[in-house]
Amino acid sequence: MALQNGDTDELVDGLTGSQLINNGDGLTYNDFILLPGFIDFLPKDVELESPLTKNITLQAPLVSSPMDTVTESDMAVAMALCGGIGIIHRNCTVEYQANEVHKVKKYKHGFIRDPVVLSPSHTVEDVFNVKKEHGFCGIPITENGKLGGKLSGIVTSRDIDFIEDPKQRLASLDSVMTPLDKIVTARSDVDLKEANRILERSKKGKLPIINEHGELVALIARTDLKKSRNYPNASKDENKQLLVGAAIGTTDGDKERIRALAAAGVDVVVIDSSQGNSTYQIDMVKHIKANYPKLQVIGGNVVTTTQAKSLIDAGVDGLRVGMGSGSICITQEVMAVGRAQGTAVYKVAKYASKFGVPVIADGGIQSVGHIIKALALGASTVMMGSLLAGTCEAPGEFYFSEGVRVKKYRGMGSLEAMNRKDVQGTSLDRYFHTENDAVKVAQGVSGSVVDRGTVLFFLPYIQSGLKHSCQDLGARSLSALRSMMYSGELKFEKRTTSAQSEGSVHSLYTYEKRLY
Ligand code: GDP
Ligand code: GDP
Ligand code: 5GP
Repeated sequence: MALQNGDTDELVDGLTGSQLINNGDGLTYNDFILLPGFIDFLPKDVELESPLTKNITLQAPLVSSPMDTVTESDMAVAMALCGGIGIIHRNCTVEYQANEVHKVKKYKHGFIRDPVVLSPSHTVEDVFNVKKEHGFCGIPITENGKLGGKLSGIVTSRDIDFIEDPKQRLASLDSVMTPLDKIVTARSDVDLKEANRILERSKKGKLPIINEHGELVALIARTDLKKSRNYPNASKDENKQLLVGAAIGTTDGDKERIRALAAAGVDVVVIDSSQGNSTYQIDMVKHIKANYPKLQVIGGNVVTTTQAKSLIDAGVDGLRVGMGSGSICITQEVMAVGRAQGTAVYKVAKYASKFGVPVIADGGIQSVGHIIKALALGASTVMMGSLLAGTCEAPGEFYFSEGVRVKKYRGMGSLEAMNRKDVQGTSLDRYFHTENDAVKVAQGVSGSVVDRGTVLFFLPYIQSGLKHSCQDLGARSLSALRSMMYSGELKFEKRTTSAQSEGSVHSLYTYEKRLY
């Protein structure tokens, strides 16, 4: 009898996730490849929505790492605008970190509720100083120079742009400001929609909001309106404020840190430890759950199911997976403890999925391909350090190294980060060191990464790449991708070293690699 198409064993082609991982070897993202599926939809139809924690879902599975060369408020704002989230690092004082959280929450609040305000007797120089410190110079002027004072006028960049002469810079603002009788304002009972309409009609960059006594209560910036139009997938809470996370440690002092972060409006905290399976972390999870029941808590880092069990039992809402896979990391070399990241993600994600706890694949992400591999192994989101450290939104300035524009990037366990003095660093206890340790054992290095432009372009590129990849795999959404992996429909294959080199550019004398 003729063989029916569909009947032969040869159709069982490739390995399931379980067959790939469960043979005892530790696999990294480069050690395997995903086999293509069937396409009956377009990349634009792919849903990238994915859970960060039990209660927080992101429109893009992308998280920036809590490192002092990666995430402060600028990065967190950009990540959230693009549908991901940033976790503010903790290598700084409580006040500094809480203020960074506050800046994200206040961002595009629609209304800027605590704008920088000056008085008519301040000078042009003062405006330049505000610009230097905060990056903006649209400043409402009130009689007493404070929010809540009677509005007298407004100064914006166009009023002061060309004033370079130091003497002229000492002129008081009443000589350059646009006075009250000429400016368009709105009353405090105005809603955001109406305020937006007024701003559109007035064609101005700022709209001061005043109460019935003419006192300034808020400011609206046109740039924010434009941004909100361009970022329909921004990660927001129910008050339309951007979502933001922050890292904390496990010491008693961190209880004060959590209090300040919660007061600043943080949505999720990440307990930042390289080995999360400890009594300190379990106690901290319980403390947060008892005192801040609404706050989402991500525990970690873990790489085994036993570690994951401790933290899930303690009550975490999400897990951060990775030990020693980060680009700046020397843990596996120095401590000989850790796990290959592909294996770690699969093992922990599979276990945690039984309890509805989403997993973040943290560290070792070098490309869009690595992101999709992490997601295909069961992670719900990925956390990136080196991939984002070279963007404009990462803290620090660009500089040139041998003709290449770079930014500094360092491990939080590098001696340099652990010894940070300017804002009272606290990265020491991530690695169970104390201030008094005679010898610190570094678990990270410091270096530099090349300029990657702005996150606002880079993240859309990543998202587009992920959608194309999902299309090749035949997965319409990331949750479909995970289901396909657990059902065995999604197929993998191991790659030999030569398969890996065949899979990258080869045989060319020269080439240029531009990604987007
Ligand atoms: P400006 O014209 O120099 O004031 O700058 P833009 O209006 O282009 O951008 C200012 C950005 O900073 C907007 O996204 C504001 O929401 C944000 N921002 C945050 N706090 C303040 C503040 O106190 N004053 C002003 N003017 N902008 C602020
Ligand atoms: P810029 O583009 O960032 O400089 O800001 P604007 O478009 O807000 O301001 C442009 C000029 O208009 C400056 O001289 C401001 O002082 C002035 N200006 C700002 N708001 C108003 C307003 O409501 N009415 C009028 N007539 N002028 C304003
Ligand atoms: P990357 O994306 O650069 O490959 O890895 C970033 C991740 O490395 C971070 O999210 C964090 O988990 C981890 N990490 C950051 N600093 C250090 C360090 O100094 N030592 C180690 N072992 N891991 C680090």
